[in-house]
Amino acid sequence: AKKLRSKWALFNKSHANDEKGQQTLRYRSELSEALAEQQIKLFYQPKVNLTSGKIVAAEALARWQHPVDGMLPPLLFIPLIEQSGKVREFGRYVIRHAIKQLSIWKTQGIMVPVAVNLSPYNLLDPDIVSYTQELCEKADIPPNMLEIELTETATSLHLHTISASLNRFKEIGVSISIDDFGTGMSSLAYISNLNVDTIKIDRSFISDIETNSSNLSIVTSALNLAKAFNCTVVAEGVENLEQATLLNKLGCHYGQGYYYSAPVPADKFTALLKFTPTLPVS
Ligand code: C2E
Ligand code: MG
Ligand code: MG
Ligand code: MG
Repeated sequence: AKKLRSKWALFNKSHANDEKGQQTLRYRSELSEALAEQQIKLFYQPKVNLTSGKIVAAEALARWQHPVDGMLPPLLFIPLIEQSGKVREFGRYVIRHAIKQLSIWKTQGIMVPVAVNLSPYNLLDPDIVSYTQELCEKADIPPNMLEIELTETATSLHLHTISASLNRFKEIGVSISIDDFGTGMSSLAYISNLNVDTIKIDRSFISDIETNSSNLSIVTSALNLAKAFNCTVVAEGVENLEQATLLNKLGCHYGQGYYYSAPVPADKFTALLKFTPTLPVS
């Protein structure tokens, strides 16, 4: 009993008693409503050609527009979704909303590929590919307008099932990116086994690339690796012109980051597309 009581005390201390724990419990209980009422919105961040400064694609990033607490970042609520058994529902929610946005843009004469971030668990959903394919058909959107971003760590779980889903996505024309490249623990061989189209170099290697020679070497190696596997490379977290120029010189031709734009609501993204870049480009 004593043991039990101390366990309970520990639980109490780490969860229910502190304010953050209370908030977490509240958010978790509000998730179903958030999804049903479409409180979770996709923001879009441009993927840019570093030479021309032109937008080549959009990455959809989820935000919870909480009715009381304002905009909540994905790193706060996505873990709650995962703990609440709603991963599958959320993965489909994100795909559905991205396709909806693609069809809105299509009616405006805008064709811009959209990348969505998926949890590895979404690839264990046996119907995720046919779900995507059907929505694309209904909306008259070619699946090659969609891209999937998957973190490198994700690929180490259930590799066999995940690679089967990824291959089926590829068969219908959806392209695959490895996100946060360089931060995971997985073997480089995954890049070839998983037949990926793009690697996205994690922003931790980009943020000080002008001054940190070991990060410069990592980026150079990633670029060589990508060349060997015929992958496109995107640098994440480009925050200034110096970084963009250096990356371009190294042979990395695409980037994302606050230098170009933070993630913005869809209508703001549409506005970004309509104006030619005025920033100096590398
Ligand atoms: P990610 O896919 O690597 O997305 C890049 C993150 O870096 C985004 O954070 C973006 O706002 C931020 N970022 C972009 N440019 C810069 C920059 O120049 N400087 C800095 N400091 N940050 C920059 P965000 O939106 O908070 O998303 C965090 C992570 O949450 C994402 O990382 C992704 O792994 C996950 N996530 C976001 N939306 C979804 C989703 O719909 N589904 C799933 N499963 N995960 C998502
Ligand atoms: Mg991403
Ligand atoms: Mg990333
Ligand atoms: Mg990252």
